[in-house]
Amino acid sequence: MKKRILITGAAGFLGSHLSDRFIAEGFEVIGMDNLLTGNIANIEHLFPHKDFTYYNHDVTKFVHVPGNLDYILHFASPASPIDYLKMPIQTMKVGSLGTHNLLGLARAKNARILVASTSEVYGDPKVHPQKEDYWGNVNPIGPRGVYDEAKRFQEAMTMAYHTFHGLETRIIRIFNTYGPRMRLDDGRALPTFLRQAIEGEDITVFGDGSQTRSFCYVDDLVEGIYRLLLSDYHLPVNIGNPDEISILDFAKEIIELTGTDQKIVLKPLPKDDPMVRQPDITKAKEILGWSPKVSRKEGLKITFEHFKKVIDAKKG
Ligand code: UDP
Repeated sequence: MKKRILITGAAGFLGSHLSDRFIAEGFEVIGMDNLLTGNIANIEHLFPHKDFTYYNHDVTKFVHVPGNLDYILHFASPASPIDYLKMPIQTMKVGSLGTHNLLGLARAKNARILVASTSEVYGDPKVHPQKEDYWGNVNPIGPRGVYDEAKRFQEAMTMAYHTFHGLETRIIRIFNTYGPRMRLDDGRALPTFLRQAIEGEDITVFGDGSQTRSFCYVDDLVEGIYRLLLSDYHLPVNIGNPDEISILDFAKEIIELTGTDQKIVLKPLPKDDPMVRQPDITKAKEILGWSPKVSRKEGLKITFEHFKKVIDAKKG
């Protein structure tokens, strides 16, 4: 019997890569999305596959899936600062009400559930690099609060189902991830810089660019998720690439990689923008035997080629 897995946010950047991976592993995949930020083109190639089914559904409403389920991956949510500023209420609802519905579904089906949490639970961190036992520094009423607090609630609710109902739960804290199928218009630094380089626009660095991020290639992240789901560990695990870089150096790296002669322009730093971010991945190494394999140089090259194709296709 094939294992059946429900993936919410299946038409999104991460959800679509996860759908591909679980199909390739021989699972029956049920992809669910309401296309608020997802794009059906990301999973169109899976539609002819006999083991793939798509439901267009908003998980903040009661979720019904016929038949048995072995696993649930909850990846539905706006996930870029621009998106959750535009959709604050939906962001809060999918992290809270959506999570509650999916935990209820997992319980009804006796399925194991993995929820997508985020490095944003650490807020603008006072501990560096971030370890899972750090509680974070989050402004609940700032612009990022709608995402950060929804994800913190999601973790609390997931742990409550684990301790109170004995549900099999997994929590992954995802750090900045990139790769093909990332949206070009989500306002994030990486796709924005690459798009600006391709389209011959100035590269917009916010603040003085001294804030840092650590970028993980999507295939590495998917491998970490796969291992965590199949592990027996229920506490949060960071998955990300610890290779940290300042945003200014990152902009310079993109200019060099793409061979553009665009200049860097400084723009105001958004409110509550975290000044540093780097995962401590000791736990992932010890518990999952996982560490990232794709360097930023390799990953950026693949992503750059992908974006060039997307932008060329749009031009027709
Ligand atoms: N950033 C930037 N220029 C842009 C977009 C973002 O300098 O055009 C900065 C942003 O202020 C942040 C970092 O790049 O410090 C990473 O931002 P991103 O939106 O990718 O995600 P975050 O890690 O903040 O959630």
